[in-house]
Amino acid sequence: MDLDLPDALVLPLETGAPYWYWLGGRPAMDFANTLRERWRRQVETLVTVDDLAGWLRAAELLPADWAGPAIPQKVLRQARELREAIDVCVRAALAGEPLDPAAVTTIDDWLVFAGARPRLTVDADGHAVLGERPAADSPRRALGTIALDAATMLGTPAQVARIRICAADDCSARFYDRSPAGKRRWCSMQSCGNAAKVRAHRARRRAEETAS
Ligand SMILES: [Zn+2]
Repeated sequence: MDLDLPDALVLPLETGAPYWYWLGGRPAMDFANTLRERWRRQVETLVTVDDLAGWLRAAELLPADWAGPAIPQKVLRQARELREAIDVCVRAALAGEPLDPAAVTTIDDWLVFAGARPRLTVDADGHAVLGERPAADSPRRALGTIALDAATMLGTPAQVARIRICAADDCSARFYDRSPAGKRRWCSMQSCGNAAKVRAHRARRRAEETAS
């Protein structure tokens, strides 16, 4: 597996679906990773409203069979804003810098769409039933869930300590370190971690050859 995108990519993409990946460890980080190659080309993979719906379904934040009304273009724009606000906060938190109040407000604005939403219905006997609306019934609700995940991460010091950006120079993957020791450096041992090991090994061999 290679996390890097092909050089020959035609940009902007027509659809980002083939380039989504799920190494973030939690929804907020997977969402931040939908803008790929942040270190180089800033490749947008939420290109269309169908991309957004498809991503939310793939992330299990919308039911797999969700086919609700088309997502307005405005919500796609707002979704990207939410994503970039999360990323600004992730980078600041990682650097130990103060968070940008505007980015925090953008995340906060989405929280009203998260959490429980009560629903009052009438059962067959005519009694009122106080229940809850389905967990994932709209894209806004799904984005609210992402915002809540980001807010939980950013607002909990023990979780802030596990925010990571992959240590590879040519990878911009954000991830949440769920390893027991909390010392994970690469988004994936199969790709970036392995590439780093191979490079280190080659460098050692070169040094040995030069020395001998
Ligand atoms: Zn990586």
